[in-house]
Amino acid sequence: MKRIFVTGGAGYIGSHVVKALGEAGYEVLTYDNLSTGNKWSVLYGELIIADLSDEETLKKTIVKFKPDAIMHFAASIVVPESVRSPLKYYQNNTVNTLNLLKAAQEGGVKEFIFSSTAAVYGNAEKMPVGENAPMSPVNPYGSSKMMAEKILRDMHLADNDFNYVSLRYFNVAGADGGCRIGQAYKESTHLITRALKTAKGEFQKLQVFGTDYPTPDGTCIRDYIHVDDIADAHVLALEYLLDKGKSEVFNCGYGHGYSVREVIAAAKKVTGIDFKVEETGRRGGDPSILIADNTKIKQKLRWQPKYDDLEYIIKTAWTWENSYHGKYS
Ligand code: UDP
Repeated sequence: MKRIFVTGGAGYIGSHVVKALGEAGYEVLTYDNLSTGNKWSVLYGELIIADLSDEETLKKTIVKFKPDAIMHFAASIVVPESVRSPLKYYQNNTVNTLNLLKAAQEGGVKEFIFSSTAAVYGNAEKMPVGENAPMSPVNPYGSSKMMAEKILRDMHLADNDFNYVSLRYFNVAGADGGCRIGQAYKESTHLITRALKTAKGEFQKLQVFGTDYPTPDGTCIRDYIHVDDIADAHVLALEYLLDKGKSEVFNCGYGHGYSVREVIAAAKKVTGIDFKVEETGRRGGDPSILIADNTKIKQKLRWQPKYDDLEYIIKTAWTWENSYHGKYS
Protein backbone atom coordinates (compact mmCIF):
# COMPACT_ATOMS: atom_id res chain seq x y z
CA MET A 1 0.00 0.00 0.00
CA LYS A 2 1.46 3.39 -1.01
CA ARG A 3 1.87 5.92 1.78
CA ILE A 4 1.00 9.57 1.28
CA PHE A 5 1.98 12.37 3.66
CA VAL A 6 -0.59 15.18 3.49
CA THR A 7 -0.02 18.60 5.03
CA GLY A 8 -3.21 20.56 5.65
CA GLY A 9 -5.28 17.37 5.40
CA ALA A 10 -7.70 18.69 8.03
CA GLY A 11 -8.51 21.76 5.96
CA TYR A 12 -11.15 22.28 3.34
CA ILE A 13 -9.46 21.04 0.15
CA GLY A 14 -7.00 18.77 1.96
CA SER A 15 -9.77 16.85 3.73
CA HIS A 16 -11.55 16.15 0.43
CA VAL A 17 -8.30 14.83 -1.02
CA VAL A 18 -7.66 12.67 2.07
CA LYS A 19 -11.14 11.24 1.52
CA ALA A 20 -10.37 10.53 -2.15
CA LEU A 21 -7.00 8.95 -1.26
CA GLY A 22 -8.58 6.78 1.42
CA GLU A 23 -11.30 5.64 -0.96
CA ALA A 24 -8.63 4.84 -3.58
CA GLY A 25 -6.79 2.61 -1.08
CA TYR A 26 -3.80 4.77 -0.11
CA GLU A 27 -2.46 4.96 3.43
CA VAL A 28 -2.62 8.59 4.51
CA LEU A 29 -0.89 10.54 7.27
CA THR A 30 -2.18 14.08 7.82
CA TYR A 31 0.05 16.78 9.29
CA ASP A 32 -1.95 19.86 10.30
CA ASN A 33 -1.74 22.59 12.95
CA LEU A 34 -5.56 22.93 13.00
CA SER A 35 -5.29 26.70 12.56
CA THR A 36 -8.14 26.54 10.06
CA GLY A 37 -8.74 22.79 9.89
CA ASN A 38 -10.78 20.42 12.05
CA LYS A 39 -9.98 17.01 13.52
CA TRP A 40 -13.29 15.52 12.46
CA SER A 41 -12.70 16.33 8.81
CA VAL A 42 -9.86 13.79 8.51
CA LEU A 43 -11.87 10.77 7.36
CA TYR A 44 -8.90 8.44 6.70
CA GLY A 45 -5.58 7.77 8.40
CA GLU A 46 -3.85 9.32 11.37
CA LEU A 47 -3.62 13.03 12.20
CA ILE A 48 -0.44 14.60 13.60
CA ILE A 49 -1.17 18.02 15.09
CA ALA A 50 1.96 20.08 14.47
CA ASP A 51 3.26 23.08 12.59
CA LEU A 52 5.41 23.16 9.48
CA SER A 53 7.67 25.68 11.20
CA ASP A 54 8.53 22.95 13.74
CA GLU A 55 11.27 21.51 11.53
CA GLU A 56 12.30 18.88 14.07
CA THR A 57 8.85 17.28 14.33
CA LEU A 58 8.34 17.60 10.60
CA LYS A 59 11.56 15.78 9.74
CA LYS A 60 11.03 13.07 12.36
CA THR A 61 7.48 12.45 11.17
CA ILE A 62 8.48 12.14 7.53
CA VAL A 63 11.55 9.98 8.18
CA LYS A 64 9.43 7.63 10.32
CA PHE A 65 6.41 7.44 7.96
CA LYS A 66 8.56 6.93 4.82
CA PRO A 67 5.97 8.32 2.41
CA ASP A 68 5.98 7.47 -1.28
CA ALA A 69 4.74 10.98 -1.98
CA ILE A 70 3.92 14.25 -0.25
CA MET A 71 0.89 16.42 -0.90
CA HIS A 72 1.18 19.95 0.42
CA PHE A 73 -2.07 21.82 1.17
CA ALA A 74 -1.23 23.67 4.38
CA ALA A 75 -1.22 27.35 3.52
CA SER A 76 -2.86 30.70 4.11
CA ILE A 77 -5.24 31.52 1.29
CA VAL A 78 -7.11 34.78 1.84
CA VAL A 79 -6.18 37.38 -0.78
CA PRO A 80 -7.19 40.56 1.12
CA GLU A 81 -5.49 39.31 4.29
CA SER A 82 -2.31 38.73 2.27
CA VAL A 83 -2.43 42.36 1.16
CA ARG A 84 -2.64 43.47 4.81
CA SER A 85 -0.20 40.91 6.27
CA PRO A 86 2.29 39.90 3.58
CA LEU A 87 4.84 38.44 5.98
CA LYS A 88 2.32 35.90 7.26
CA TYR A 89 1.93 34.70 3.66
CA TYR A 90 5.62 34.51 2.85
CA GLN A 91 6.15 32.66 6.13
CA ASN A 92 3.26 30.18 5.87
CA ASN A 93 3.34 29.62 2.13
CA THR A 94 6.93 30.12 1.01
CA VAL A 95 9.15 29.47 4.06
CA ASN A 96 7.06 26.54 5.31
CA THR A 97 7.15 24.95 1.85
CA LEU A 98 10.93 25.26 2.01
CA ASN A 99 10.91 23.54 5.43
CA LEU A 100 8.80 20.75 4.01
CA LEU A 101 11.09 20.30 1.02
CA LYS A 102 14.14 20.08 3.29
CA ALA A 103 12.37 17.40 5.32
CA ALA A 104 11.36 15.61 2.09
CA GLN A 105 14.97 15.61 0.97
CA GLU A 106 16.09 14.23 4.31
CA GLY A 107 13.44 11.50 4.12
CA GLY A 108 14.35 10.68 0.49
CA VAL A 109 10.86 11.55 -0.80
CA LYS A 110 10.96 12.22 -4.53
CA GLU A 111 7.33 12.83 -5.49
CA PHE A 112 5.61 16.05 -4.46
CA ILE A 113 2.19 17.53 -5.21
CA PHE A 114 1.78 21.22 -4.57
CA SER A 115 -1.39 23.27 -4.11
CA SER A 116 -0.81 26.30 -6.24
CA THR A 117 -3.26 28.88 -7.43
CA ALA A 118 -4.53 30.83 -10.41
CA ALA A 119 -3.47 33.89 -8.42
CA VAL A 120 0.07 33.32 -9.75
CA TYR A 121 -1.14 34.69 -13.11
CA GLY A 122 -2.38 38.06 -11.86
CA ASN A 123 -4.12 40.00 -14.64
CA ALA A 124 -3.17 37.68 -17.49
CA GLU A 125 -3.34 39.06 -21.01
CA LYS A 126 -5.23 36.12 -22.44
CA MET A 127 -8.28 34.41 -20.91
CA PRO A 128 -8.75 31.47 -20.50
CA VAL A 129 -5.20 31.44 -19.21
CA GLY A 130 -2.81 28.58 -20.05
CA GLU A 131 0.05 27.25 -17.91
CA ASN A 132 2.63 28.95 -20.14
CA ALA A 133 1.35 32.44 -19.37
CA PRO A 134 3.89 34.42 -17.34
CA MET A 135 3.53 34.36 -13.59
CA SER A 136 2.70 37.91 -12.61
CA PRO A 137 0.76 37.89 -9.34
CA VAL A 138 -1.01 41.04 -8.13
CA ASN A 139 -1.13 40.16 -4.43
CA PRO A 140 1.21 38.65 -1.81
CA TYR A 141 -0.82 35.43 -1.72
CA GLY A 142 -0.07 34.81 -5.41
CA SER A 143 3.56 35.87 -4.96
CA SER A 144 4.07 33.53 -2.02
CA LYS A 145 2.80 30.58 -4.09
CA MET A 146 4.80 31.62 -7.15
CA MET A 147 7.99 31.59 -5.08
CA ALA A 148 7.21 28.10 -3.83
CA GLU A 149 6.67 26.97 -7.44
CA LYS A 150 10.07 28.41 -8.38
CA ILE A 151 11.73 26.52 -5.53
CA LEU A 152 10.12 23.30 -6.77
CA ARG A 153 11.28 23.93 -10.33
CA ASP A 154 14.83 24.52 -9.13
CA MET A 155 14.72 21.37 -6.99
CA HIS A 156 13.77 19.39 -10.10
CA LEU A 157 16.51 21.03 -12.16
CA ALA A 158 19.07 20.15 -9.49
CA ASP A 159 17.82 16.57 -9.12
CA ASN A 160 15.93 15.07 -12.04
CA ASP A 161 14.67 12.22 -9.87
CA PHE A 162 12.73 14.72 -7.80
CA ASN A 163 9.42 15.33 -9.55
CA TYR A 164 6.49 17.51 -8.63
CA VAL A 165 3.06 18.37 -9.91
CA SER A 166 1.87 21.85 -9.20
CA LEU A 167 -1.91 22.18 -9.44
CA ARG A 168 -3.05 25.74 -9.98
CA TYR A 169 -6.53 25.89 -8.50
CA PHE A 170 -9.13 28.31 -9.70
CA ASN A 171 -12.04 29.03 -7.30
CA VAL A 172 -12.74 25.88 -5.32
CA ALA A 173 -16.22 25.60 -3.81
CA GLY A 174 -18.94 23.10 -2.84
CA ALA A 175 -18.79 20.20 -0.41
CA ASP A 176 -18.63 16.41 -0.22
CA GLY A 177 -21.72 14.94 -1.89
CA GLY A 178 -22.22 12.74 1.20
CA CYS A 179 -22.17 15.87 3.38
CA ARG A 180 -19.50 14.56 5.77
CA ILE A 181 -17.02 17.36 5.18
CA GLY A 182 -17.03 20.87 3.69
CA GLN A 183 -15.72 24.33 4.28
CA ALA A 184 -15.80 24.83 8.04
CA TYR A 185 -13.65 27.85 8.64
CA LYS A 186 -15.59 30.50 10.54
CA GLU A 187 -13.77 33.43 9.02
CA SER A 188 -14.04 32.26 5.41
CA THR A 189 -14.20 35.21 3.03
CA HIS A 190 -15.01 33.25 -0.14
CA LEU A 191 -17.93 34.46 -2.18
CA ILE A 192 -20.12 31.33 -2.20
CA THR A 193 -19.58 30.67 1.51
CA ARG A 194 -20.31 34.30 2.40
CA ALA A 195 -23.42 34.34 0.21
CA LEU A 196 -24.76 31.18 1.87
CA LYS A 197 -23.94 32.39 5.38
CA THR A 198 -25.81 35.60 4.52
CA ALA A 199 -28.77 33.55 3.29
CA LYS A 200 -28.65 31.70 6.61
CA GLY A 201 -28.74 34.97 8.52
CA GLU A 202 -25.18 34.82 9.89
CA PHE A 203 -24.45 38.11 8.14
CA GLN A 204 -26.90 40.95 7.52
CA LYS A 205 -25.79 41.54 3.94
CA LEU A 206 -23.41 40.36 1.26
CA GLN A 207 -21.06 42.97 -0.10
CA VAL A 208 -20.14 43.08 -3.79
CA PHE A 209 -16.56 44.27 -4.01
CA GLY A 210 -16.44 46.44 -7.12
CA THR A 211 -18.89 46.94 -9.98
CA ASP A 212 -16.56 48.85 -12.30
CA TYR A 213 -14.39 46.01 -13.57
CA PRO A 214 -13.95 45.59 -17.36
CA THR A 215 -16.43 42.69 -17.50
CA PRO A 216 -19.95 42.54 -19.02
CA ASP A 217 -21.72 43.30 -15.70
CA GLY A 218 -18.84 45.15 -14.02
CA THR A 219 -18.13 42.48 -11.37
CA CYS A 220 -15.20 40.04 -11.27
CA ILE A 221 -15.42 36.73 -13.10
CA ARG A 222 -14.07 33.50 -11.61
CA ASP A 223 -13.93 29.84 -12.65
CA TYR A 224 -15.72 28.00 -9.78
CA ILE A 225 -14.81 24.32 -9.48
CA HIS A 226 -16.27 21.64 -7.22
CA VAL A 227 -13.92 20.43 -4.49
CA ASP A 228 -14.49 16.73 -5.35
CA ASP A 229 -13.30 17.39 -8.92
CA ILE A 230 -10.18 19.02 -7.47
CA ALA A 231 -9.73 15.94 -5.24
CA ASP A 232 -9.91 13.63 -8.28
CA ALA A 233 -7.26 15.73 -10.03
CA HIS A 234 -4.92 15.07 -7.08
CA VAL A 235 -5.37 11.32 -7.23
CA LEU A 236 -4.63 11.41 -10.97
CA ALA A 237 -1.57 13.62 -10.41
CA LEU A 238 -0.35 11.17 -7.80
CA GLU A 239 -0.79 8.18 -10.12
CA TYR A 240 1.08 10.13 -12.79
CA LEU A 241 4.06 10.77 -10.50
CA LEU A 242 4.09 7.23 -9.06
CA ASP A 243 4.12 6.04 -12.66
CA LYS A 244 7.42 7.93 -13.15
CA GLY A 245 5.86 11.04 -14.69
CA LYS A 246 8.08 14.12 -14.83
CA SER A 247 7.45 17.51 -13.19
CA GLU A 248 4.42 19.36 -14.56
CA VAL A 249 2.20 22.33 -13.83
CA PHE A 250 -1.56 21.99 -14.43
CA ASN A 251 -4.46 24.40 -14.27
CA CYS A 252 -7.45 23.07 -12.34
CA GLY A 253 -10.65 24.77 -13.44
CA TYR A 254 -13.62 24.16 -15.74
CA GLY A 255 -12.66 26.64 -18.47
CA HIS A 256 -15.56 29.05 -18.04
CA GLY A 257 -16.54 31.53 -15.38
CA TYR A 258 -19.31 33.39 -13.59
CA SER A 259 -19.48 36.98 -12.42
CA VAL A 260 -20.09 37.89 -8.78
CA ARG A 261 -23.62 38.95 -9.74
CA GLU A 262 -24.26 35.60 -11.47
CA VAL A 263 -23.07 33.68 -8.42
CA ILE A 264 -25.35 35.74 -6.17
CA ALA A 265 -28.32 35.09 -8.46
CA ALA A 266 -27.58 31.34 -8.40
CA ALA A 267 -27.22 31.37 -4.59
CA LYS A 268 -30.59 33.10 -4.25
CA LYS A 269 -32.17 30.56 -6.58
CA VAL A 270 -30.73 27.51 -4.83
CA THR A 271 -31.54 28.75 -1.32
CA GLY A 272 -34.85 30.37 -2.22
CA ILE A 273 -33.80 33.31 -0.01
CA ASP A 274 -33.60 36.87 -1.32
CA PHE A 275 -30.78 37.96 0.99
CA LYS A 276 -29.57 41.55 1.14
CA VAL A 277 -26.77 42.60 -1.22
CA GLU A 278 -24.78 45.82 -1.02
CA GLU A 279 -22.59 47.10 -3.83
CA THR A 280 -19.39 48.59 -2.53
CA GLY A 281 -15.87 49.52 -3.70
CA ARG A 282 -13.15 47.19 -4.98
CA ARG A 283 -11.26 44.91 -2.63
CA GLY A 284 -7.44 45.10 -2.90
CA GLY A 285 -5.64 42.53 -5.05
CA ASP A 286 -8.55 41.19 -7.15
CA PRO A 287 -7.82 40.47 -10.82
CA SER A 288 -10.92 41.14 -12.95
CA ILE A 289 -11.15 37.74 -14.70
CA LEU A 290 -9.63 34.34 -13.93
CA ILE A 291 -10.62 31.41 -16.13
CA ALA A 292 -8.60 28.24 -16.68
CA ASP A 293 -7.47 26.82 -19.97
CA ASN A 294 -7.74 23.19 -18.80
CA THR A 295 -6.65 21.48 -22.04
CA LYS A 296 -3.41 20.18 -20.54
CA ILE A 297 -4.80 18.45 -17.44
CA LYS A 298 -7.58 16.85 -19.50
CA GLN A 299 -5.10 15.50 -22.03
CA LYS A 300 -2.18 14.53 -19.85
CA LEU A 301 -3.92 13.30 -16.69
CA ARG A 302 -7.20 12.37 -18.43
CA TRP A 303 -9.04 14.44 -15.84
CA GLN A 304 -12.78 14.48 -16.46
CA PRO A 305 -14.70 16.88 -14.26
CA LYS A 306 -17.97 15.46 -12.94
CA TYR A 307 -19.58 18.46 -11.27
CA ASP A 308 -19.29 21.32 -13.74
CA ASP A 309 -22.58 22.87 -12.65
CA LEU A 310 -22.73 26.06 -10.55
CA GLU A 311 -26.10 25.18 -9.02
CA TYR A 312 -24.86 21.74 -7.95
CA ILE A 313 -21.77 23.33 -6.43
CA ILE A 314 -23.89 25.80 -4.47
CA LYS A 315 -26.41 23.11 -3.52
CA THR A 316 -23.74 20.89 -1.92
CA ALA A 317 -22.30 23.89 -0.07
CA TRP A 318 -25.80 24.88 1.09
CA THR A 319 -26.61 21.37 2.34
CA TRP A 320 -23.31 21.40 4.19
CA GLU A 321 -23.85 24.88 5.68
CA ASN A 322 -27.19 23.74 7.06
CA SER A 323 -25.98 20.45 8.46
CA TYR A 324 -22.76 20.95 10.34
CA HIS A 325 -24.16 23.47 12.82
CA GLY A 326 -20.96 25.44 13.09
CA LYS A 327 -18.94 22.64 14.65
CA TYR A 328 -15.44 24.08 14.56
CA SER A 329 -12.37 22.10 15.72
N1 UDP B 1 -16.38 38.77 -3.43
C1 UDP B 1 -17.41 39.67 -3.15
N2 UDP B 1 -17.98 39.63 -1.90
C2 UDP B 1 -17.57 38.76 -0.92
C3 UDP B 1 -16.53 37.84 -1.23
C4 UDP B 1 -15.95 37.87 -2.49
O1 UDP B 1 -17.79 40.48 -3.99
O2 UDP B 1 -18.11 38.80 0.20
C5 UDP B 1 -15.76 38.76 -4.77
C6 UDP B 1 -14.26 39.02 -4.75
O3 UDP B 1 -13.99 40.41 -4.75
C7 UDP B 1 -13.82 38.32 -6.03
C8 UDP B 1 -14.78 37.14 -6.14
O4 UDP B 1 -15.90 37.47 -5.31
O5 UDP B 1 -14.02 39.16 -7.13
C9 UDP B 1 -14.19 35.83 -5.65
O6 UDP B 1 -13.60 36.06 -4.37
P1 UDP B 1 -13.20 34.88 -3.39
O7 UDP B 1 -12.72 35.52 -2.12
O8 UDP B 1 -14.31 33.91 -3.30
O9 UDP B 1 -12.01 34.12 -4.13
P2 UDP B 1 -10.60 34.65 -4.73
O10 UDP B 1 -10.85 34.79 -6.21
O11 UDP B 1 -10.24 35.94 -4.05
O12 UDP B 1 -9.66 33.55 -4.43
